[in-house]
Amino acid sequence: MTPEPASIVPRAVNDARHLFASGRTRPLAARTARLRALRALLTENQQAFEVALWSDLHKSAGEAQLTEINVILAEIDHTLRHLRRWARPGRGPVPVALWPARARLLSEPLGVVLVIAPWNYPVQLLLNPLVGVLAAGNAAVLKPSELAPATAELIARLVPTYFPDGAVRVVEGGIPETTELLLQRFDHIVFTGSGTVGRIVMKAAAEHLTPVTLELGGKSPVWFDDDAHLHQAARRLAWAKFTNAGQTCVAPDYVMTTPDRVPALVDALRRAITDMWGTDPRTSRDYGRIVNERQFDRLAALLHGTEVAIGGERDRAERYLAPTVVTVPTPGPTTGPDPGLDRGHVDRPAVGPDAHHPLLREEIFGPVLPILPVASAEQAVQVINGWDKPLALYVFTSSARTRRLFEQHTSSGAVVHDAGLIHVAATGLPFGGVGASGIGSYHGAYSWRAFSHLKPVVHKPLIMDTLRLAQPPFTRRGLRLVKRLM
Ligand code: NAD
Repeated sequence: MTPEPASIVPRAVNDARHLFASGRTRPLAARTARLRALRALLTENQQAFEVALWSDLHKSAGEAQLTEINVILAEIDHTLRHLRRWARPGRGPVPVALWPARARLLSEPLGVVLVIAPWNYPVQLLLNPLVGVLAAGNAAVLKPSELAPATAELIARLVPTYFPDGAVRVVEGGIPETTELLLQRFDHIVFTGSGTVGRIVMKAAAEHLTPVTLELGGKSPVWFDDDAHLHQAARRLAWAKFTNAGQTCVAPDYVMTTPDRVPALVDALRRAITDMWGTDPRTSRDYGRIVNERQFDRLAALLHGTEVAIGGERDRAERYLAPTVVTVPTPGPTTGPDPGLDRGHVDRPAVGPDAHHPLLREEIFGPVLPILPVASAEQAVQVINGWDKPLALYVFTSSARTRRLFEQHTSSGAVVHDAGLIHVAATGLPFGGVGASGIGSYHGAYSWRAFSHLKPVVHKPLIMDTLRLAQPPFTRRGLRLVKRLM
């Protein structure tokens, strides 16, 4: 990684702005050409991406394809298929009171969009927002994560070759460069990362009244009571949790189930882990590593003094932490006669900064899965409602009533039944959080909407000057007529 000298940052933003002002990003043909260029950047350098992701995160070629490259290719293809229709001006309704008049809805690009990405899916989370940014006719400045240096360097090297006119610029670096970037004026900022940095981004954006899309994280809970499909469901749960060594924003963070189900669930998870990553996951090419020592030490500290049911083996030199399942004690009693579904009934939140167990106090973001026994699905709902709205909620149950209970009595970025993670790959669905897990959403048409301005264009011809009724001097008859028409 070559950090950018500070002066390069404003220059990159200015160059992108000049290019946008030239109008060269706007024509539909230019947009599709850029999407094809992005496609070529990925397909012609697949192996280089696989090598970079292996170096940064020990991500296997299979996982790199599945969770990074293919997700972006699918987004590009979906966008190319629908772009013409999205870009077509729509007809806008005009009320009778304004007749005769016509209105159209024009989508116009916002300008220069800054995309700031985290390290855990360093390709997908940088280039997937770029698909919508380019499709909407904007110029872009990309800030890859300094904590995935091989991937950042590769992208910084490839982008000028595939976007020679400078419609996409890359600024490499860490906090100083991002801080410098945030001083510039952008027309939109897409930030994916932690809530702490999300707040910094939003404050900086406020200086320029720049709108933001914040893709943040949090503790995504799981409810599990599917006795009928125990092994199948546990395998899906283990896959969702331990993919990328648990370093996924929508990874299941903790599992709630009833105390009598815990032993069977632990057995089923053990079997699933062995099936997917073998008896010693350290030797599996398909099992990832923790991104750096700082994160490794944080996770090791979280495990200190906990009752490990599966895994727990670790090696700091290799940044290896085995897929680990721990059981944590049941939270304390709730107050009030009725343990209802609303916020406010929980005495001490089971999850959140004041939780009774360290693993339940912050987003884990690693291969450690706590099982939290609770009395019932209703109590699980209370636990979820006791803290920030999560990015995703996963429900493994055979009961339609239980599914409805979670859908209707909790709020989260998304709900997935009987699986985890998969909604991220559904290009037609909005992806984003709610409350503390994020602001705004993107993917497919939702990216188009997020990175365009929908501009009503109204034309009221000068003939048949009905506007005179709304102009002084007012008459009783005229006002009565306007009122009736409105
Ligand atoms: P992070 O917030 O530490 O860093 C994200 C980006 O912000 C990086 O590019 C970094 O250079 C920059 N940054 C860091 N500190 C900064 C500062 N003080 N000022 C300005 N810029 C700064 O996040 P991370 O550790 O890379 O990623 C982990 C977090 O991201 C987790 O909370 C996870 O849940 C979340 N996440 C969310 C999504 C999503 O789609 N919602 C996806 C992946 C990760």
